[in-house]
Amino acid sequence: MQTPQIQDPRAASIPVVAHADVVVIGGGPGGFAAALRARREGCSVILIEKFDMPGGVHTSGLQGAANAGVGGIHTELMARFEREGCIYTADERNLPDWAGNPLSHYDHYLPPGSPFKRASFNPDGAGSVMVNMLEEAGVQAIYGASFVDVVMAADGSERRITHAIIETVAGRQAVAGTVFVEGTGTAEVVARAGAPFVRGGGRQPETVTTDPTQRPIPGGLLWIMSGIDFAQTAAYQKRENDPALSKLINRARAAGDIPPELYRPRLATQGVYGDHYIGHPTVDMSPIQGPGTFILWQNVPYEWALHMDEDAEHASRAKRELRRLIDAEARFLRQYVPGFQDAFIAHVGRYVGVRDGRHPIGEYVFSIDDARQERRFPDAVTRPMTKTFFWDAYKRYTFEVPYRCFLPREVSNLLLTGASLSFTFETIFMVMRNFPWCTQTGEIAGLAAARSIRQGIGPKQLQWTEPLF
Ligand SMILES: Cc1cc2nc3c(=O)[nH]c(=O)nc-3n(C[C@H](O)[C@H](O)[C@H](O)COP(=O)(O)OP(=O)(O)OC[C@H]3O[C@@H](n4cnc5c(N)ncnc54)[C@H](O)[C@@H]3O)c2cc1C
Repeated sequence: MQTPQIQDPRAASIPVVAHADVVVIGGGPGGFAAALRARREGCSVILIEKFDMPGGVHTSGLQGAANAGVGGIHTELMARFEREGCIYTADERNLPDWAGNPLSHYDHYLPPGSPFKRASFNPDGAGSVMVNMLEEAGVQAIYGASFVDVVMAADGSERRITHAIIETVAGRQAVAGTVFVEGTGTAEVVARAGAPFVRGGGRQPETVTTDPTQRPIPGGLLWIMSGIDFAQTAAYQKRENDPALSKLINRARAAGDIPPELYRPRLATQGVYGDHYIGHPTVDMSPIQGPGTFILWQNVPYEWALHMDEDAEHASRAKRELRRLIDAEARFLRQYVPGFQDAFIAHVGRYVGVRDGRHPIGEYVFSIDDARQERRFPDAVTRPMTKTFFWDAYKRYTFEVPYRCFLPREVSNLLLTGASLSFTFETIFMVMRNFPWCTQTGEIAGLAAARSIRQGIGPKQLQWTEPLF
């Protein structure tokens, strides 16, 4: 049945409330760094952000993993987080029994008892630092503003964006700009501009599919639990020879205290990227913020095949069901697991993160073959980088990324960043989606925007000849 339609009677009159050289939509690590760099290069910059702080998945989404600085704004950020007391580091002294523990999201593979260092930043503290950094630089950030659409104009053989349409407490407003930056993490600007992309779960570019059962790698909602006495948990694991808490999980399942979606086996045998994100057979957590506080992951069950970036009912279902699962997990932990009896839900992420959303098709689509062939490009944005490709039997390749991956097809004045770069799914997932790299991509986009504005040309005419990092 066709969905009934109405005409929006006010569609023709939207107030244009601001104009800037560079308009960045979405303030995740990519959008944040793009805004900061473009402003520091002398451009006027507006950043549109749905929530109350930049940082995206890593702040509003609670991800919070801190890494050694990789240069530029990322190094500056990590130093500032440290200086402002936002970094917490767990190691073998304050968290013995963590290395090699099956409950550890990141450190389970280490030999038990070995030294380790797990640094994280406090998501809300770090978000405030990022708010201040934008303000100090003179970026005009509009928080609580949802980007909903674009206005386009012809531009030679392509089209350019003239305005971003946003929704604020004042209703619909338009923001005009010369260059726009895609920072939504789900290529929402690309989609609204009508530029090409591959849906989550699709393989790019050979097998673009509209199959409704096509399953993206599931997104997830992160949450924080405080008041955990992990020494008690570790003592139980040893005393009862129950490293993965299987005995407790089985007992709770038999009593009907665990919903079927919790603690499911990994699906690595089903030809999907199963080892990490599809099914967590036990409690999965990582230390964050301070002693006794851990972040936990609640993923969408893979079988639900939710496209949370493009289907409102899917997005709503994920929010609803994942909160239900978090409540159920917290109840199980408190009731059954030693060390958790006084624990409580301290925080639930502001949104369900999308891991495998739209993948824009740019002037160059970086594929796994580019990595395998260790290709070099005349428009490389970085010096050769060496990365481990989990999708490719954990092989390590050294390669460059061309500037053309930042340029979406069919739109002349939009630059891509972060998880919305023109990369095939296999290359972006796990390999090219981390906070340091996403911050670098933002800085590259911010510099490209500023250079093209200075030269009076579009980002696609810009000659990129020197790697930035
Ligand atoms: C659940 C989950 C767990 C992850 N775990 C890890 C991990 O352990 N390690 C790792 O390195 N990477 C991890 N990632 C990947 C990493 O977080 C992302 O690749 C990275 O954050 C992408 O950065 P980004 O700047 O492109 O977008 P995002 O971080 O997604 O930020 C997008 C920003 O845009 C804003 N926005 C979106 N739409 C709109 C709109 N319409 N209007 C206004 N604002 C909007 C959002 O509020 C957000 O602030 C994880 C991702 C997810 C989803």
